[in-house]
Amino acid sequence: MPNILVFIEQRENRIKPASLEALSKATELLRTSGGTLSAVLIGAKEIREQADILGNYGASVVHVFADPQLETYSANTYARLIAETATSAGAEAVFFSATAMGKDLAPRVAVRLQAGIASDCIALELDEKKAIAKRFVYSGKLISTIELTSAIKVVSLRPNSFSIVETKTTRHETKLHDYKPEPFDLKTIVKEIRSLPGKLDVTEADIVVAGGRGMQSEAHFKLIEDLASVLGGAAGASRAVVDLGWRGHSEQIGQTGKVISPKLYIACGISGAIQHLAGIASSKTIVAINKDKDAPIFQVADYGLVGDALEIIPEFIAEMTRV
Ligand code: FAD
Repeated sequence: MPNILVFIEQRENRIKPASLEALSKATELLRTSGGTLSAVLIGAKEIREQADILGNYGASVVHVFADPQLETYSANTYARLIAETATSAGAEAVFFSATAMGKDLAPRVAVRLQAGIASDCIALELDEKKAIAKRFVYSGKLISTIELTSAIKVVSLRPNSFSIVETKTTRHETKLHDYKPEPFDLKTIVKEIRSLPGKLDVTEADIVVAGGRGMQSEAHFKLIEDLASVLGGAAGASRAVVDLGWRGHSEQIGQTGKVISPKLYIACGISGAIQHLAGIASSKTIVAINKDKDAPIFQVADYGLVGDALEIIPEFIAEMTRV
């Protein structure tokens, strides 16, 4: 069985659950073989404190690059460090989670390693010779099977498609590496846009409540936020309302927004255009609230409510908060 290296993504020294999903999947694949599972963690000085956690999910070696210059994400720098670590660790497979950062990094690392790549996978098998991955294509209408036969395989895994499983490893080692900048690492940060602290991202939430143009106004999105809050989920939006300026782009779900895989997705006043469906195809359960019984969203919904979202959502919230 091949050696696997998993890139562990963090923001503000907090490891992303999607990375633990990728690590857990790698542990599962290596369970019956002698391959080594390594992880690579890059960030500010404080990130080294997170290394031990990864031993609880099967990583036997954790490579840490902790340096103030690495606090802010830089595609070139991170890709170089991951590729160099993969080479020194003798990794035949490198896993990422298919977050925005993972999608940015995986192809860059694949080029550096001359590796084949399968991105945004929802299923994966791996042996010495090949990786077989499944991923959605044509905006979620079909699932394609990809076979990678290159010596090194780079794979990104769709968040929320694999379970997090605690598997304590008996041999766990942390290797601290010095960061030595190279000219190619140079970067300019033009603008940094931070989301509100404590705000759950749509890609990480188990429950997502999203609103579309059918919510009628920006003010009515308070209902979407309230329902998301009552359910412990995140608020999302269709592109129409992002274009109208009612919501920020970080909440946009779909082809040109974020791809989500929550356990429960509730679409309120969203028609279900193909570009929106591209972002929700792997949601486990889809609920749609729309006043048009012929809206396309009902073709993909597991449960549908035909009616006015502005009336249904307050009733929903009242029911959920009734003592
Ligand atoms: P609408 O299509 O206007 O639908 C509003 C819905 O609300 C209707 O079905 C209506 O029946 C219902 N409604 C109205 N009032 C109420 C009420 N009171 N209660 C309940 N229901 C009500 N879209 C995305 O979402 N994400 C993307 O990433 C994306 N990328 C795109 C990329 C490209 C290249 C292109 C061309 C388009 C993209 N779009 C994307 C746009 C997409 O085609 C649709 O225009 C958009 O999704 C429509 O948003 P909507 O459903 O909110 O609005």
